[in-house]
Amino acid sequence: MQKIYEYILDTLFPKKCFSCGKEDTWLCESCKKKIALCTTFTCPLCGKGDGPTLCASCKEKSPLDELIYAVDYNESEIVRRIIHAYKYKSIKSLDSPLGHILITALEKNNYTPSADYITSVPLHKRRTKERGFNQATLIALFISKKYQIPFSDLLTRTQNTTPQMSLNKEERKRNIAGAFHCTTTLPLKNKTIIIVDDVATTLSTLEACAKELKKCGAKKVIALCIARDR
Ligand SMILES: [Zn+2]
Ligand SMILES: [Zn+2]
Repeated sequence: MQKIYEYILDTLFPKKCFSCGKEDTWLCESCKKKIALCTTFTCPLCGKGDGPTLCASCKEKSPLDELIYAVDYNESEIVRRIIHAYKYKSIKSLDSPLGHILITALEKNNYTPSADYITSVPLHKRRTKERGFNQATLIALFISKKYQIPFSDLLTRTQNTTPQMSLNKEERKRNIAGAFHCTTTLPLKNKTIIIVDDVATTLSTLEACAKELKKCGAKKVIALCIARDR
């Protein structure tokens, strides 16, 4: 069944570099090199300081401890196109170029992720079914394998929230607060957790997840994303 599905997908979307059209790859090596990766991490909220740790004054306002992203969503058309196809055309194998972009950005910044567990921002069951996969989970699994951090689904999404894209900043916050619940049996007390998402926009989703993880005892929450859209 999976094979047939892949065959149909290959026919509909033949594997070609998203940037130059070169065949048999989603992103060729030379186009990959052209992607503007974040080269210096600063405080992800105010842009000052060393980062990726939140500076002292931002820390007071957010349950996140660190936020790392590979590219600025508005500055990389290639990444935007790949993420769009990954999410809305459900091309599952795009997890690989996106995972590689994230790893390359981490390496460029000499940042080695380390945590007790890695997890991902959960989707509501219905949306996972529609898409066939959770796009953030596949990226998290990629990072999990590379850095040997155990992956676990720590959170579930309990309300079917309105898509964040259609709301303004304040509405997004209200829409998402309370949507996530810790459903793991793993002990989270004093643990460091990495949470992965594809695109971080207002951070209200990641912050709602971090808040819940901390409520369950987590000591430190690090957010890892492909892109930041401000
Ligand atoms: Zn190319
Ligand atoms: Zn700051």
